[in-house]
Amino acid sequence: MTTYLDYNATAPIRPPVIEAMTEAARCHGNPSSVHAMGRAARHRIEAARRAVAALVGREDVDVIFTSGGTEADALAVRGLGRETILVSAIEHDAVLAAAPSAARVPVTGDGIVDLHALQDMLEDTQSGLLCVMWANNETGAVQPVAEIARLAHAAGWLLHVDAVQGAGRLDPADLAEADSIALSAHKIGGPPGVGALLIREGLAVTPMIAGGGQERGRRSGTENDVGIAGFAVAAAAAAEERDAEAMRLRALRDRIGQGARARAPEARIMAGAAERLCNTLSLALPGVAAETQVMALDLAGVAVSAGSACSSGKVKRSHVLDAMFPDDPIAGQAIRVSLGWASTDEDADRFLHAWGAMRDRLSPAVR
Ligand code: PLP
Repeated sequence: MTTYLDYNATAPIRPPVIEAMTEAARCHGNPSSVHAMGRAARHRIEAARRAVAALVGREDVDVIFTSGGTEADALAVRGLGRETILVSAIEHDAVLAAAPSAARVPVTGDGIVDLHALQDMLEDTQSGLLCVMWANNETGAVQPVAEIARLAHAAGWLLHVDAVQGAGRLDPADLAEADSIALSAHKIGGPPGVGALLIREGLAVTPMIAGGGQERGRRSGTENDVGIAGFAVAAAAAAEERDAEAMRLRALRDRIGQGARARAPEARIMAGAAERLCNTLSLALPGVAAETQVMALDLAGVAVSAGSACSSGKVKRSHVLDAMFPDDPIAGQAIRVSLGWASTDEDADRFLHAWGAMRDRLSPAVR
């Protein structure tokens, strides 16, 4: 049996989501068809829009369903039509690859956007689109996006927030002033391959995919109504459980972090002094390559990540930790433990057992 501690990569699908998707799959009908079955599908999609917007506490947004967080980020970066783009240095590749020539705003050693540097860059650059994520997928560091929205708007910029990892885990009040927000269903117990871009009402978006004019012309292609039905149920569940789950998972996360540090004083928690996602722990073991740690834990039946998984399945060096620790080998020596709705105390125990054995075998501090 594998101990699954990789929720930031993808979460197991929640049972009620599977039920909702099964039910939706039984009711075929193209949401663009005018007959009753088409209208029923359209109705389900409109209800899902409200559930997804509610997850981030916004009523003043249009919800454009996409194939996931990556497409939502790309649609914001390319579709909002701003020539100048600034991104934080710790954005997900979905944003970085969509804006390859954008200047990068540095972060502190705790993985938080450097607000002084940001302010200077906003003032010294022709205004455009600023992209800052809500919470980082590797360290969990929560960015002060409410404050960043204030700075951006004062300087005439739009703010896009990649909220893929924060949604369902953080208080959505932070997002009240964001101009656009990217979400992904599979990080909150919904299906992979579904996401949404939420844009402030009245903002124009140029589509990346043209065709039949679905999503009010902003994203053509017959909607994935089965996936969208699952996304809606996952969003409602994540919103409802948010506060209780945040408490439960934070306690579990801290038990793992403190347990590791008690066993191995040389271990370090990345972004440890920052406000972090309740479910995310970036744990470095100095002197041991992250890839080696991930493989050793995998052999012991524990699934965690390091850096960002690229499609080849190899561990890619983390640009996030590199931005926090330039020229420091520690950036290549941290693994990510991430928890979620089905995580238990036993998972934490099994991780600590496997991690402790790995550390005793591999850490230079033991030899
Ligand atoms: N943004 C962040 C912060 C993520 O963690 C991810 C997924 O890893 C994405 C975007 C991409 O989302 P998706 O897998 O739905 O394309």
